[in-house]
Amino acid sequence: MKFTLAFVPMHSRQSTAPDPPQHHGYTYMRPSITRRVCAAEHCSGQTHQHVSQFCAYHRGHYLRHGDANGRAITAHELTTFRTLATHLLSTYGARADVQAGLRWIALLLSSRPNPQTGVELARLQAGRVTSEEVLHAVLTLQAFADRFPGSLPDDARLTFALARGVLKLRKKPNRKDTSRIAIRTLGLLLREALSVLLIRLIRLHDRKRDEDAALLKAIRSGSPDDPVDILIPRKKP
Ligand SMILES: [Zn+2]
Repeated sequence: MKFTLAFVPMHSRQSTAPDPPQHHGYTYMRPSITRRVCAAEHCSGQTHQHVSQFCAYHRGHYLRHGDANGRAITAHELTTFRTLATHLLSTYGARADVQAGLRWIALLLSSRPNPQTGVELARLQAGRVTSEEVLHAVLTLQAFADRFPGSLPDDARLTFALARGVLKLRKKPNRKDTSRIAIRTLGLLLREALSVLLIRLIRLHDRKRDEDAALLKAIRSGSPDDPVDILIPRKKP
């Protein structure tokens, strides 16, 4: 009898077990019948359709705000900080770093980093959203986060809040179809390029405010180097 040593590929070997059913090239796994409890703190809800570690409510927050316990920052909460951003950009708008930031935003709006983010950037462009509006929106949110760190307590929530602040500039802001990938990508890009500039502008404001407060204190206490003499000429007796 002639004996031949032949190579037998793995996939052609006979197996006694039946092949698992295939679905679009992936092995089909039957979803577990046992439902799990939501991973968010203090939530006893059931996980959402076996696709998430969270219940439907917390999954929505996770997708929109970067964290299951994340929340939207309301327009009312931002009122003061919008005024501050307007003041900062009118005071320091001519600085080279602010102008460089605006040029970067213009490039960002015409870029398409990935399909999901590209759709959102195209919507902003179609709505003729300007670089100045984008910078104003992110400066407003950064100033809010700086003042109330407990409201945006981690990187993910700040990243998502910055992106959502910009996406709200669209003409139709209430679109429900914005993907988590788009929000996250846009937020990461904005933070990477602009956070140093935003913090610098806020600190410039803080320093000016502290100097003004010190000056007022000196005026009120009537110190030996009385600045009142310089600011308000005293009436001659
Ligand atoms: Zn939950």
